[in-house]
Amino acid sequence: MVKITGFSTRDVRFPTSLDKTGSDAMNAAGDYSAGYCIFHTDSDHEGHGMTFTIGRGNEIVCAAITLLAPLVVGKDLDDLTSNWGQTWRYLVSDSQLRWIGPEKGVTHLALGAVVNALWDLWAKTLGKPVWRIVADMTPEEFVRCIDFRYITDALTPEEAIALLKEVEPGKQERIRDAERSQAVPAYTTSAGWLGYSEDKMKALLGETLAQGYRHFKIKVGGNLEDDKRRLRIAREAIGYDRGNILMVDANQIWSVPEAITWMQELSEFQPWFIEEPTSPDDILGHAAIKKALAHTPHGPIGVATGEMCQNRVIFKQLLQAGALTVLQADACRVGGVNEVLAILLLARKFGVPIVPHSGGVGLPEYTQHLSTIDYVVVSGVKSVLEYVDHLHEHFVNPSSVREGYYVTPMEPGYSVQMKGESMDRFAFPGEEGKSWWRGEEAKVILEGPRI
Ligand SMILES: [Mg+2]
Repeated sequence: MVKITGFSTRDVRFPTSLDKTGSDAMNAAGDYSAGYCIFHTDSDHEGHGMTFTIGRGNEIVCAAITLLAPLVVGKDLDDLTSNWGQTWRYLVSDSQLRWIGPEKGVTHLALGAVVNALWDLWAKTLGKPVWRIVADMTPEEFVRCIDFRYITDALTPEEAIALLKEVEPGKQERIRDAERSQAVPAYTTSAGWLGYSEDKMKALLGETLAQGYRHFKIKVGGNLEDDKRRLRIAREAIGYDRGNILMVDANQIWSVPEAITWMQELSEFQPWFIEEPTSPDDILGHAAIKKALAHTPHGPIGVATGEMCQNRVIFKQLLQAGALTVLQADACRVGGVNEVLAILLLARKFGVPIVPHSGGVGLPEYTQHLSTIDYVVVSGVKSVLEYVDHLHEHFVNPSSVREGYYVTPMEPGYSVQMKGESMDRFAFPGEEGKSWWRGEEAKVILEGPRI
């Protein structure tokens, strides 16, 4: 029996804006950041959960964590996990806090850190990685993790159980695939950031091809001629007929008609999908773009979105509207593991593959579990998962890729526990003499123009 005795939060920020890592049409200069929730217990175990942001405002997420985390302090972990769906409902039901959500925005980002910290703690007490806890559940136990409110018009608990039972044959074999790190093929955006020079892009494409990657994502939407030039470079490197897949990502820069005409211009490069062509809230807009791009002179272009989709309700509607080729839920934005499980089930019901959002610090550490769960338990089909190769050195159990596949995490927990020295070094605003943010180098960001 483990009791939660307290919590702390940490605001950790990495100065990635200095070299434009993570830059795209909308997010020109992000400092990859994590708002942490750490649960302390009456045992040796701690639960670590984080939410990803890209800098300014991370302190607001941390403030929201301090409002949510007390809801579970003083409680026994077993009581919280024995009926997860009910616990999740309890955590989103503070009647005053709910007003500044509900189930969206900063409060939901903070909930993601809190819920994921509970899963990390639970996994550590059970001595299993998070994906394995879910893989060991019966379909009924899986479904009990989910709050079905607002989605039963698309999926009932009974249907969900039936869907999970359908893929149970073969599950043991898929668990063995996971144990051999053959469950989650990786794709890379390393070469694709908008702020990178042509030379840097060419070098990174060559490198990642040699490492065994077959899927490559390039940021677009800044300038049409530049996009054509960069996609030409990408296709020259990866070819059209060597089984390599190109994807493009506009990070919400366009209105619907602009998305359609711009992508028609880029159709000669035959991307699999355009990611985030427009506002993440525009369900019918995504459906219109998908319909318009279903036929181009060079074949169909699919539509993907999800990293900024607020919750399961938006995903339900995107799926009901036939707006998605690929679904890209984020591990933090939708309030943690439980809501992701609901979204995986919805995607399965509508036959849409999931490719969780992974472009951020700590996200690959999380999503490797989620994609493994999808393959082993929910869809039974392998899908790709983004791998961004930086900042992993700050984690106690970093994610990694070998021969084009994620190395399945086997350590107990949810893999986002950061090293203590990294937390201190990149704490914001941090301590004098310890934190990078207190030094001279940080002034370029702190005192420079806001981009
Ligand atoms: Mg994206």
